[in-house]
Amino acid sequence: MIKIKTEAQIEKMRAAGVLLHSVLDALREAAVPGCTTLQLDQMAEKLIRDAGAQPSFKGYAGFPYSICASIDEQVVHGFSTDTPLRKGQLLSIDCGCILNGWQSDSAFSVVVGGGNAEAQRLIDITERCFWLGANMARSGNRLGDISHAIQAYAEKHHCGVVRDLCGHGIGQEMHEDPNVPNYGFPGRGVQLKSGMTIAIEPMITLGTWKVATLDDGWTVVTRDHSLAAHYEHTILITDGEPEILSYPGARVSEAIQ
Ligand code: MG
Ligand code: MG
Repeated sequence: MIKIKTEAQIEKMRAAGVLLHSVLDALREAAVPGCTTLQLDQMAEKLIRDAGAQPSFKGYAGFPYSICASIDEQVVHGFSTDTPLRKGQLLSIDCGCILNGWQSDSAFSVVVGGGNAEAQRLIDITERCFWLGANMARSGNRLGDISHAIQAYAEKHHCGVVRDLCGHGIGQEMHEDPNVPNYGFPGRGVQLKSGMTIAIEPMITLGTWKVATLDDGWTVVTRDHSLAAHYEHTILITDGEPEILSYPGARVSEAIQ
């Protein structure tokens, strides 16, 4: 069942989004060569707890960390380690928090220290997939309109669209109805309504869409070891362009220009 949020509930999700955005901003700044993902994980947990919130990933189905830190061919759900990051690696960080019972979920990818044009191109494509999908996320449209916009842009650039994982409704639970796939047909699926809150999260590769899970039971990697990137925000469906709850002030219409 898809839950329509009240204005009071949306206000709480806004607050969670403001906090999560500040945490991800800090992680982005800190993700430099020599830093470890374990340090980033501890930093995220401290920032979240100091704000009176909880890291939603830690303990979720037994996941041991507050962030997912996925490097190069790792798509999502990577474990944090004490191995220093190296210049040119593609690092994806996914994080979620619960503030006063309401969730926010957001992810980004970055080239550690810069200097990897191929990885940066993939990141740019993945971010644009998100914004083009979000542009379709309006009351009256259907879920498939979001999915198709993401898939069409990625495949136009000969990238793979991961199918085994998808976006999701979000509210008091991190994963609520509906699923939000990154591939699909326009005009199909659930009709979107004002007050729905969903996380859109394209996971895009420079090769195949096919993925595998490592022996740790969590880390998802591309089967052909091609680079993968991830970009995610928690958004609110409205009658116009969506409100990006985990990126306060961002506007879809500006992002897609
Ligand atoms: Mg996430
Ligand atoms: Mg998510």
